[in-house]
Amino acid sequence: MRTSSTLHDEHMHLRPHGVSPLPAHRLAPMLEAARAKGVVPGIREHAPLPARYRLGPDGDYLFCMRVDEVEPFLAELEGQGVPVGFEIDHLDGCEAETQAIVSDLLDRARRRGIPIGGLTGSVHFIHGVVDDLGGVDKGGIPHVLCDYLESVMKAHLAEHGAERTVREYFASVRALIGTGFYDVVGHLELVRKWDRRDPETGVSELFGAVEDVYTRELEATIARAAEADVILEYNTAGRDIVIGRPYLSDEAVRACVRHGVKLALSSDAHTPKAVGRYFAEATETLRGLGVRALYAVRDRERIEVAL
Ligand SMILES: [Zn+2]
Ligand SMILES: [Zn+2]
Repeated sequence: MRTSSTLHDEHMHLRPHGVSPLPAHRLAPMLEAARAKGVVPGIREHAPLPARYRLGPDGDYLFCMRVDEVEPFLAELEGQGVPVGFEIDHLDGCEAETQAIVSDLLDRARRRGIPIGGLTGSVHFIHGVVDDLGGVDKGGIPHVLCDYLESVMKAHLAEHGAERTVREYFASVRALIGTGFYDVVGHLELVRKWDRRDPETGVSELFGAVEDVYTRELEATIARAAEADVILEYNTAGRDIVIGRPYLSDEAVRACVRHGVKLALSSDAHTPKAVGRYFAEATETLRGLGVRALYAVRDRERIEVAL
């Protein structure tokens, strides 16, 4: 296995969300930020969604790359010597279409001589029916976006229940792992993005009543990642949102160490200032929990970074 002595930021995007009209993907500011932070950049831009999911005012379901943006995106990377990678939505039932979209992206990148990094699979879409797109007719697609608005997650939990939400989320992540298509699993525990804990009791607002189910599902998913030998992400973006901690709790990291699951470190930056965020604290925490190496992916192969 290749090794590196420099930390990698294995999950960076080239534009922010929530800006209309959609801004172009821009590589240079993110590279500059990575240089300043002393981390190796790992681009993981959102890939286009399957056709039925190209919804919303910009046809991007609020965050994805549109099909007509693929060539300009690749042109931005061509000749820069920076590997391209993607963050890909796992959608239960859309595996074949998703993989065809990604294979086409990788072919087009190779034709331009752009090196390939890695593929991160993420579950942002959970099974559900509440309105998550401001009343847009979704044509019966069976998913809702769990990480875009707190109000959507609250409505979803009221409709679906906490236990079913937890079971279905982790089942989707295990299905993602089961595809064998991805190098890394993105932000396991994203389903807790909008979770708060009671300051006195520490009880979780969203999942406090089903914590035992959550723990079992999390553990089963980590065990599945170990069997499949897929990398899990330690994603520091959670620090800056309601959950207030990285995606992977300390308990989850301990379970990864127990099961021998490899970890990648990432900021999930969508802006230059977020590149490498909280990496000093993260590496200290991980070392304290018994993690001895981190992993990055280049040319779809692993690089070991000693911690
Ligand atoms: Zn994501
Ligand atoms: Zn991301």
